[in-house]
Amino acid sequence: MSRPTRLEIDLDAVRHNVAHLGAVAGAPVCAVVKADGYGHGAVAVARAALDAGAVWLAVALVEEGVALREAGIDAPLLLLSEPADADLPALLEAGLTPVVYRPGFIAALAAEVRSRARGPLGVHVKADTGMGRVGARPAQWEQVLRAVADAPELVVDGLLTHLACADDPTAAGEATTREQLAGFDRFLALATQLGIRPRWVHAANTAGLLRFPDARRGLVRPGIGIYGLSPDVEVVAADHGLRPALRLVSAVSYAKHLPAGTPVSYGHRWRTPADGWVATVPVGYADGVPRALTNRGQALLGGVRRPIAGTVTMDQLLLWCGDDEPRIGAPVVLLGTQGDEQLPVEEWAAHADTITYEIVTQLTARLPRHHLG
Ligand SMILES: *Cc1c(COP(=O)(O)O)cnc(C)c1O
Repeated sequence: MSRPTRLEIDLDAVRHNVAHLGAVAGAPVCAVVKADGYGHGAVAVARAALDAGAVWLAVALVEEGVALREAGIDAPLLLLSEPADADLPALLEAGLTPVVYRPGFIAALAAEVRSRARGPLGVHVKADTGMGRVGARPAQWEQVLRAVADAPELVVDGLLTHLACADDPTAAGEATTREQLAGFDRFLALATQLGIRPRWVHAANTAGLLRFPDARRGLVRPGIGIYGLSPDVEVVAADHGLRPALRLVSAVSYAKHLPAGTPVSYGHRWRTPADGWVATVPVGYADGVPRALTNRGQALLGGVRRPIAGTVTMDQLLLWCGDDEPRIGAPVVLLGTQGDEQLPVEEWAAHADTITYEIVTQLTARLPRHHLG
């Protein structure tokens, strides 16, 4: 098919970001490629991250790990949350390293390993130090650590926690991160006391590794940063030497000259401010352009920012071009650079009142991914 609308992913940028984050952290990198590599294409991003020196990859779901294995990727692969017991056979067959925190899951995992007469399986034990999502609460730390240490089928290969507020620059946010890291130190001390000597200790997501040297430990787990995107408006990726990897491009499919005051698109939420040209671009919310960009977002055409005119529709949106007659087929950039101008994902996130993570993970499967570099 030759739809002009597609995503271009610059794998050189991914390599740069992985190497840069590793250098900043002074620690090996576990590249987080869950949710299809934050929409960038997990297999290609995983290979680029490994090229750039990442020693681990991380996914959220067993099927995400299986897909990487089927693509021939044999690097250590961390499964960030416990799956359903029914997925244990697939987990073991794919050689994933599970993150564990519930005694019931640990028992089921040990039984599955035993039934396959496999050697001990390395697992990473997760402490909840304040995220309040998955992970063992402090009162359960000893029980969970012992459950793994006492199971001959399992071995503690890693200990981890996850930060809830690492991107929060307020004093309260920073205090929370420091408390979490202090809690993590208590968890590590307890493990030492129980004779547990894990090879990997990790706490930092992108914001944690950029903002808290004490979070870096022996491994870091950046996700959003390897794509060159900011975790939050307060942590600007470019200021940290990161390069956005993604461009969303399309082309003008139609153009018309309209008299001043002509309403366009659903609901007639916009009218031409003068006589002038309106260009149609074949990309819409079914591709992941937030409908919240209606009358607010911009796109690049001819190296110039053009306002989105009226409602973003499922398959198309309109650009106001004023006196400039758009050529059918002229390239349009929705995200990324064109000439000297650029439209960052962060700008869409601000318009849609969300975060970069949600924007890129909602770029749908309908958009072909072209990997460059
Ligand atoms: C998603 C995730 C990460 C990566 O976080 P970023 O903010 O994208 O860097 C790290 N660790 C865990 C447990 C995660 O779920």
